[in-house]
Amino acid sequence: MSAACDHTRHGPWTVGADEVQPRPWSGETVHMPGGRLHAVSDDGLIAGRAVCLAPVALLDPVDWTWPDDADEEWPLCWICLALTR
Ligand SMILES: [Zn+2]
Repeated sequence: MSAACDHTRHGPWTVGADEVQPRPWSGETVHMPGGRLHAVSDDGLIAGRAVCLAPVALLDPVDWTWPDDADEEWPLCWICLALTR
């Protein structure tokens, strides 16, 4: 989008989830993803849509990295995975 966009630290993708759920965590309420993780491009950030075109809730790029932060609870969307390889 612009030359000022810094993709060197986190790669070109932002991470989104099917939904975000508030959860108690160490006495605070934190927002954790629910369902699958999706990859979101620059255009998707504005539209709120993943690379696979599913509507997503964006996750904090400081805490979440595509595709490295997936695990059993948060599986990767295989369509996004295929499209970002
Ligand atoms: Zn997806």
